[in-house]
Amino acid sequence: MKVKVLGFAGAEFPGFHPPGFLIDGKLLLDAGTIGASLSENDQWKIRHIFITHAHLDHIKGIPFLADNIIIKNKTHNVTVIGIAPALKTLKKNLLNNKIWPDFTVIPSPKNAVLKFVEIRAGRTIQLNGYKVTAYRVNHAVPAAGYVVEDEKGKKLLYTGDTGPTNTIWEKACSMKIHRAIIEVSFPNRMEALAIETGHLTPKLLMKELEKMKIIPDELLITHPKPQHIKTITNELQRLRKPNIRLLKDGEVINI
Ligand SMILES: [Zn+2]
Ligand SMILES: [Zn+2]
Repeated sequence: MKVKVLGFAGAEFPGFHPPGFLIDGKLLLDAGTIGASLSENDQWKIRHIFITHAHLDHIKGIPFLADNIIIKNKTHNVTVIGIAPALKTLKKNLLNNKIWPDFTVIPSPKNAVLKFVEIRAGRTIQLNGYKVTAYRVNHAVPAAGYVVEDEKGKKLLYTGDTGPTNTIWEKACSMKIHRAIIEVSFPNRMEALAIETGHLTPKLLMKELEKMKIIPDELLITHPKPQHIKTITNELQRLRKPNIRLLKDGEVINI
């Protein structure tokens, strides 16, 4: 499994794009960044997008991708998969013909550019040799993280945005996970804000690790606020865990 980091940050600045993790060129986890990182040809290769939740920094690539598709080729389509409340929010508040055209019925309802498919928490969807399972996490809005398993049995866990939570650790981390992309948004001194808004700090991450039966082989940290990147980096180093590190925009992870 090859994972390209289109964006990893919890905000947007040069070199810091919102979350988007492209698996083997075709399956995307979160869509905070698409067109800002991928050529037109590479954008066409994306066939499935799993979204963790409906916050703008995780979905904002979708309306622009849909627009690129309609400009180029009206027969191409992309399937957007997420838990029901996230899909409902996108449809009602973004693809509502006010903020953006409703690409779930354009150019026609049968051949729409975007197809929405619900995944229920705890369930697995199989597609093109991948098994993707959703697990509820604890965020300010309904949200789910995912475990993606490829044909070789390699497993990637991605939390999306979450504060302290249980199910994903108890269920997914009872098996061997090769890489885990976990959010840490704020430095330790902002713990109250992290809890209030459903995010983690390095210190809170340590407590989450205790809930895992099997610690993933490597913990890759996503969603830091770039304004606090130095502090978060230092605090992660001070955890003295050799297998934890911060991700970077544009890097490729081979699993
Ligand atoms: Zn969020
Ligand atoms: Zn976010």
